[in-house]
Amino acid sequence: AYVIAEPCIGTKDTACVDACPVDCIHPKKDEGTYGDAEQLYIDPVECIDCGACVPVCPVSAIFAIDDLPEKWQNFATKNAEHFGR
Ligand code: SF4
Repeated sequence: AYVIAEPCIGTKDTACVDACPVDCIHPKKDEGTYGDAEQLYIDPVECIDCGACVPVCPVSAIFAIDDLPEKWQNFATKNAEHFGR
């Protein structure tokens, strides 16, 4: 799965949401929880590892889980927990 890390906090650009073919990045701007969300998250179960979200992120916040920088390892759990995974 792919993981959204710290650079998304305070950015929440949502280009990734539009790029994802399986709609597994939340919350979206029209979702009630968008305003309260600190960042966007990828559902690790729904993600098909296509990588389409990576190049469109303006702050390079998205990583394949195996490439997640050491300092942001906790974001793998953080993304999963958002979906109750
Ligand atoms: Fe969506 Fe593909 Fe990114 Fe997974 S890797 S979150 S399926 S765009």
